[in-house]
Amino acid sequence: MRFTVAIDGPAAAGKGTIARAVAERFGLAHLDTGLLYRAVGAKVLAGADPVAAARALSPEDLDRPDLRSQEVAAAASRVAAIPQVRAALVDFQRAFARREGGAVLDGRDIGTVICPGAEVKLFVTADARTRARRRWQELRAAGADTSFDAVLAEVEARDARDRDRASAPLRPAEDALVLDTTDLDIPAAVAAAVRAVAAKLPKDHGKEAQ
Ligand code: C5P
Repeated sequence: MRFTVAIDGPAAAGKGTIARAVAERFGLAHLDTGLLYRAVGAKVLAGADPVAAARALSPEDLDRPDLRSQEVAAAASRVAAIPQVRAALVDFQRAFARREGGAVLDGRDIGTVICPGAEVKLFVTADARTRARRRWQELRAAGADTSFDAVLAEVEARDARDRDRASAPLRPAEDALVLDTTDLDIPAAVAAAVRAVAAKLPKDHGKEAQ
């Protein structure tokens, strides 16, 4: 079976949590495509050329422990605006999306550019202060010493870069189901996503995965 679930949205909206839950519930493979851009961003911070780094990316690069930092996130959104960087990452993402057994990909342009034919498209969003609060709580739980205002400024700057870039800007696909998680807790958001996927999966699939 080939079946693609595309989940897009801005930083810290909950798309990663939803993508992992949907993948696990239905036995689909999951790719967090932000990691590709973060891995390129980390290499650029270490002095590499962004396009060369994107072309030479290897699976081990996605396992680096420092990819979740705010500094790498900001570098990722800068390299993500370079069309040749995006082009270098397309084939890998499309092959993952069409692998046998089905796949969930989360990112910014999965439903619009990478997989416009995806069987299910979700756009997960929430207001900027709510997303910044979630990210701030995560960072503090991980021991980072940072203020809410600094995290909000970083989230807003990243949103602006992702929305305003010319190449694959962040926006919902026309046929995406929009899930606003501002007032939705994780179980409710996951349940809505699971319903959307279950409605499109071949009838016998959910039973196999249970
Ligand atoms: O999702 P995450 O926060 O890990 O993404 C880091 C950055 O990578 C985003 O701010 C965005 O600029 C970029 N990105 C992208 N397209 C994707 C996934 C991530 O441009 N499909």
